[in-house]
Amino acid sequence: MVRFLVLALLSLAGVTQTSASPTQASEPLNPTEEQPPLGTGSLSFPWSHLRLPGYIVPLHYHLLLHPNLTMLSYSGTVRIELQVQNNTNWVVLHSKGLRITTATMLDQNLAHLSDKVLPVLHNPTHEQTAIFSPRVLSGGQKYFLFLEFGAELGEGFYGFYRSTYRTSSGETRNLASTHFEPTSARMAFPCFDEPSFKANYSISIRRSRAHTALSNMPIVMVLDDGLMEDRFAVSVRMSSYLVAFIVCDFKSVSATTASGVKVSVYAAPEKWQHTHYALKAAVKLLEFYEKYFNIKYPLPKQDLVAIPDFQAGAMENWGLITFRETSLLFDPATSSGSDRVWVTMVIAHELAHQWFGNLVTMQWWNDIWLNEGFARYMEYISVNATYPKLRVEDYLVDTCFAAIGRDSLNSSHPISSAAESPTQIEEMFDTVSYDKGACVLHMLRHYLTDQVFQSGIVRYLRRYSYSNAHNQDLWDSLANTCSKEEEFSSGEHCYSSRQHLDLTSMMNTWTLQTGVPLVTVTRQGSHLLLKQERFLRTAHPSDPTWFLWHIPLTYRTDTSTSIHRHLMTTLTDSMEVGEEVGWVKVNVDMAGYYLVHYDGSGWDDLIQLLKDNHTALTFMDRTHLIHNAFQLTTAGRLSLDKALDLIGYLRSESHTVPLLEGLGYLEAFYRIVERRDIPDVTQNLRTYILWYFRDVIDRQTWSDKGSVSERRLRSELLSLACHLGDLPCLKQAQRSFTHWLDSNSTLNLPADVAETVYSVGAQEDTGWASLLQTYTHSLSETHKRKILSALASSRDTNKLTRCLGLEGEVIRTQDLDSLIAMVARNPRGRHLAWSYVQKYWSTLVDKFQLGSFSIRNIIIGTTAQFSSTEELTEVRVFFESIHEQASQLRVTEVAMDNIQKNILWLQRNLGTLRKRERDREGDRERDRQRRG
Ligand SMILES: [Zn+2]
Repeated sequence: MVRFLVLALLSLAGVTQTSASPTQASEPLNPTEEQPPLGTGSLSFPWSHLRLPGYIVPLHYHLLLHPNLTMLSYSGTVRIELQVQNNTNWVVLHSKGLRITTATMLDQNLAHLSDKVLPVLHNPTHEQTAIFSPRVLSGGQKYFLFLEFGAELGEGFYGFYRSTYRTSSGETRNLASTHFEPTSARMAFPCFDEPSFKANYSISIRRSRAHTALSNMPIVMVLDDGLMEDRFAVSVRMSSYLVAFIVCDFKSVSATTASGVKVSVYAAPEKWQHTHYALKAAVKLLEFYEKYFNIKYPLPKQDLVAIPDFQAGAMENWGLITFRETSLLFDPATSSGSDRVWVTMVIAHELAHQWFGNLVTMQWWNDIWLNEGFARYMEYISVNATYPKLRVEDYLVDTCFAAIGRDSLNSSHPISSAAESPTQIEEMFDTVSYDKGACVLHMLRHYLTDQVFQSGIVRYLRRYSYSNAHNQDLWDSLANTCSKEEEFSSGEHCYSSRQHLDLTSMMNTWTLQTGVPLVTVTRQGSHLLLKQERFLRTAHPSDPTWFLWHIPLTYRTDTSTSIHRHLMTTLTDSMEVGEEVGWVKVNVDMAGYYLVHYDGSGWDDLIQLLKDNHTALTFMDRTHLIHNAFQLTTAGRLSLDKALDLIGYLRSESHTVPLLEGLGYLEAFYRIVERRDIPDVTQNLRTYILWYFRDVIDRQTWSDKGSVSERRLRSELLSLACHLGDLPCLKQAQRSFTHWLDSNSTLNLPADVAETVYSVGAQEDTGWASLLQTYTHSLSETHKRKILSALASSRDTNKLTRCLGLEGEVIRTQDLDSLIAMVARNPRGRHLAWSYVQKYWSTLVDKFQLGSFSIRNIIIGTTAQFSSTEELTEVRVFFESIHEQASQLRVTEVAMDNIQKNILWLQRNLGTLRKRERDREGDRERDRQRRG
């Protein structure tokens, strides 16, 4: 699954997960009504655990579904072939919100075990259903459980749910689609809804002639009996969360890969022309993965479908991947450079899952990183190989910085964490599993080398195909010392060397332990003294020695071009670097997941180096230094003066990544003082940023020309310049906006600057109204997202209130979390957004589920703007008022941590910012005279 992140949130500390609570419209029937009286008296639910018993295993589901898109309901039957391992009278499985009308049990010859309809009991708290068989089911035998059931099509984004879209003639059409991960397959049909219960699925769907039915496998037979019935081929063995089916009237484009897999992209009929980029990318990436993993994609087809209402970014259902429209559709006229990167990365992520996740699945949700960390990391490997011009490696630093942002708060958790309830399971889909998982794999790949890493994961995928794996299985595969591949694949563990033991104990320190390490280095003669501890931005750990990592250190010096390596496995350590060495840069190209603090004159040496000759370091190393320095500042470990000195060289910086990293911190400072309404510092910082970056701002063109990297710089820089009120920027934006208005909103503005132009135009009443009009009628979600951001940037709070009121009619519910975060980011809107969240909290939870990405985005998006003790108290009081829900949510702790971090930052650094401003006035004066 890809999380849908609000772009404005990407720079924030990280987004956490939370809990799902049972808020379904149709709760299961009351158990007492469901129990037909038996001779022995009433039955009670036979199972008290959250996880299902292991002694009944599903082998094959025969599932028939008949959705009615007019009545918005469906009926179905399922016949599940079961392997019973112990004698029992009960079959316990999952179901949630389903009306089960009939239950019967059949033996291997399909003969009924009882002539009575069997009792069905429900335990809604555990989302389980139990069927009682009066005749004992014998261990070692196979049986068939047959159930008839029905339900409404869901109103939200889980289970089998309804989505709608509007045609250009104004007609609204329905479709029905599924989203099951992690625990919602049980909302669509009764099933053993845990990842280790892999089974085959034979699915049939009844539909009207006007519709198309899609599922994981291709159709093998169509029955026409007035009503159509599509029968799909038997699936491969897979987990229930990967099952998917859709009934819609979409159009598609198709192509075939070199190995013969038919790839199709589906979208609403009028959006069909925006599917071509995705088709090309999907074919290319699928071909790449087949080569890289050296395992053929096992299905004959792969469909990618843009669903109009979709909460996540995308979902990797085997053979039938579903996407949010903005994650799949690409419109050359309105999609920007970063839209292209996003679409490509999401497709790469979901296709990687076809192996990592679908073919080999984590045993349980505590190790969801084995799916998500890998898929996240494979995005970089595959897109780098297939679309080198997109320069996705530039974005890897952001992934690792996001992980560090989250992991350096007290409220972080280990990559592998216990998760039992649906709430806790949903909470696992967070920055730690995705981004930290990816960064730890990146470090491991550098440590092992590309070849060893690749052959290790291929071994892992082959050995555990169609089954489930633990962390340990991955380490065993990577450290395999078998002389022959077959030995390992047949289940032998050939390792006996130290390397195996070392790899496991090394990786356990990264996956079982929370936090990110900080390595402090001190020069002493020819030695470098090393010390490691947990890095925290809010408080110092009470017992820092509790944390210990095995850190594969790397460093570079001025005396050689080679990369030096050292495995640090103790709290303190030292390395010989040589007397003649001038500077040392530790953590080469930021391949390691740790921060570095340079003690003594270390930072001064590096500041001087950047000033004298910044290209002596790679752009990654420069970016890393900037990041580390400002992180240390936030933690109170380095003075803000030093960090600002470090970016004093930025005027000579020509690479987009370090430039945006340094500028990003200045922008963050600006936004925090702007929101706190500290006029003198706000004004001075604005003047300073515009003065210091004048040349690079002036170099930008208002076009879509140039490399991806140039386009990204232009887009972000001009957006900031206009936000800071830069006159030339505002004038150009206004000119472009007038052209757009004059064209009756039909002109396509350059996509990279469109959002900036709209935001400037939205400040006038007529501009705002025209934008809203265009938003209402546009069929391009990418275009609409840019307009929505502009509408939410208005300085008029009445307009912001109006925006929030448009959800459900003009603005899709799926976009509400983005909208709230956009309003909160607007200095005029942050209290408005927070009040909205408090007022409509229970409605929001009903719409999105408690643990969803959306709820987490809403909480983080609103509270991350706060930086005063009053606001902290207000947030705490609100969380206390919703204690029952808040206590299940890890994200509430993250929110409190974030506010505390902001408060501390202001306390520590406001004085420095004021003082530096006085010094800078002198700099600017000298500059004016020189230019004069
Ligand atoms: Zn994923």
